[in-house]
Amino acid sequence: MTRPKNSSKFKGFMQENSLTILTIIGVAVGIIVGLILKNSTGPWTKREIMYIAFPGELFLRMLKCLIVPLLVSSITSAIGSLDLSMSGRIATRAIVYYFLTTVSAVILGIVLVTTIRPGQVGQVDEFMTDDVEKNSKVLTPDTLMDLVRNMFSDNIVQATMFQYRTEISAPKNITQKDLPMELWEFSGKYKDGSNVLGLVMFSIILGTTIGRMREQGKLLQEFFTTLSEAMMIITSWVIWISPLGVAFLITAKIIEMHSLVLVVQQLGWYFLTVMLGLILHGFGTIPLLFFLGSGSLPYKYIGKLSQVLATAFGTGSSSATMPCTIKCLDGMGMDPRVTRFVIPVGATINMDGTALYEAVAALFIAQYRQVSYSFGTVIAVSITATAASIGAAGIPQAGLVTMVMVLDTVGLPAKDVSLIIAVDWLLDRFRTTINVMCDAIGTILVNKLSVKDLEIADRNAADPHELVELSNGHELKD
Ligand code: ASP
Repeated sequence: MTRPKNSSKFKGFMQENSLTILTIIGVAVGIIVGLILKNSTGPWTKREIMYIAFPGELFLRMLKCLIVPLLVSSITSAIGSLDLSMSGRIATRAIVYYFLTTVSAVILGIVLVTTIRPGQVGQVDEFMTDDVEKNSKVLTPDTLMDLVRNMFSDNIVQATMFQYRTEISAPKNITQKDLPMELWEFSGKYKDGSNVLGLVMFSIILGTTIGRMREQGKLLQEFFTTLSEAMMIITSWVIWISPLGVAFLITAKIIEMHSLVLVVQQLGWYFLTVMLGLILHGFGTIPLLFFLGSGSLPYKYIGKLSQVLATAFGTGSSSATMPCTIKCLDGMGMDPRVTRFVIPVGATINMDGTALYEAVAALFIAQYRQVSYSFGTVIAVSITATAASIGAAGIPQAGLVTMVMVLDTVGLPAKDVSLIIAVDWLLDRFRTTINVMCDAIGTILVNKLSVKDLEIADRNAADPHELVELSNGHELKD
């Protein structure tokens, strides 16, 4: 008798979670097909790999295309619908969460790398990428100042396409080798890629202004709210392609990779240290902080985020996953005013997985090079690893580039990044998954903590003459 009930329950579950199930199947198929193709035929040419990646590339392009309009419209409408003190309170909660989680990720990474000491075994091959080479003279203050420069964009249209980056080069006709520091020349370049921080900052200010304009700003407020809703509808269509897109992206990446056995032999301990850190952080520290903040554990939410996590793994980009993350949190009943602030800002500056990896990688390389480091250096590594994770863009392997400044802290040259490049593409996917998960859990926590504020905002919006102040303003009118 209970059979039909069970089977209809199962059917309901499958229907409700079909996209999630399909995306997870996409990841599995991508890995299996990739491994089969890599080992049965080959070697594969770059052109063939490009053909295989093509459907995945189209999926990524569609997601990326949504980022700028979605980000600007959703932050502006979210902030515009709250008054200044409310949005200030939500922002403060989010920033405290970002800070606590990032610092604890770095500390965990340092504890693991100093106990496991993965750098003391094996011999590692070195590979180099152009991007790191070009950036090798850029120091921590340069990266941090670029971050602030990008926050204050000088041209908002340009910010949708390019971001500022300091470049340091030798004067013309002088050979670079052994050139003293003070003779290097600074120049600013606009590099491809949206300046997300500049757009976030501009949208926050625009939203605040629209909110303050009240009646006069209503038209703009409605415009941005409608635009954001339209973007979410497009997102819900694009998301249905994710199982296929993710499968092709992963297959191509696996075919492209270096010999897995060799990599595991050489970098196995390093890989395991980062992985252990990511798992402990994502499933230990974050739930603990969530518990301390809300009194409950977030595991049931993590389950509901599976589709988002699979997309993050497949794309290796927090920014590209952002539309899916917002859509999923909307589906979970989170307040759009919280989601639309916490997710875009988090996807840009809150990267716990990246912070943990930066600390582990820098100390791993120091151990491998047999450079001894003091407690002071470890503290400096934790600060620069935090800064490097904030400075890293939400795109694939951005952490590898900002790693240069952490290495500099340990007194190692930028080219040492080459030691870990072989496994970076894979670790990048895992750390992106944790980055995205932490942002999503943070949104749920901030949402829980802001319920009262949001209710008051709703009441004020319904009856603007009867302004209700928060309890800490000692003026609660009902
Ligand atoms: N790919 C990461 C992200 O988008 C950044 C990084 O660690 O390289 O979150």
